[in-house]
Amino acid sequence: MRGLLIGRFQPFHKGHLYVIGKIAEEVDEIIIGIGSAQKSHCPDNPFTAGERLMMIKKSLIGVNFSKNYYIIPINDVNNNSLWVSHVRSLTPPFSKVYSGNPLVKRLFKEAGKEVATPPLFNRKEFSGTEIRRRILSGESWEELVPEAVVKVIGEVKGRDRIEELAIGDR
Ligand code: ATP
Ligand code: MG
Repeated sequence: MRGLLIGRFQPFHKGHLYVIGKIAEEVDEIIIGIGSAQKSHCPDNPFTAGERLMMIKKSLIGVNFSKNYYIIPINDVNNNSLWVSHVRSLTPPFSKVYSGNPLVKRLFKEAGKEVATPPLFNRKEFSGTEIRRRILSGESWEELVPEAVVKVIGEVKGRDRIEELAIGDR
């Protein structure tokens, strides 16, 4: 059985790693869809799909993750009723979808897919929004993401990017 987890992973954090571990207990193979793949360089979506792919791949290598997995970037189509077919056109076949997002759940349910809401792990801190906020305000965030993600964000100068994008025109 193959399961799909979709997220934006801006950035990939320990909550995501935890939930992938949980899903791995139930499935034979995991598909990780990187949503809004075309977005980058904006305050809510600072990282490119390629950078997010590196974060995920290196984090899974870092924990010796042993399931087979596929990481697939998925661009937005601005048409909710076509979105599930779009996802299916890009991914290996799957029978179960894991998401906490109400719209994602609704769209897959209507398409006849089994949908599960994964348990949340320390959601107050392990949240992309909270991590981006901390990076911007200069608070410590490194402990909220896998070591590999700290390295990728360092390599692409993600902190400078997030700071400059927050300033706006002047
Ligand atoms: P943002 O605040 O930018 O929306 P996020 O932390 O919610 O970031 P997403 O990429 O939106 O990250 O998350 C995708 C999916 O990962 C969610 O729908 C949820 O199922 C799962 N997830 C996110 N955070 C956690 C967490 N702390 N514990 C378990 N699962 C999580
Ligand atoms: Mg979210």
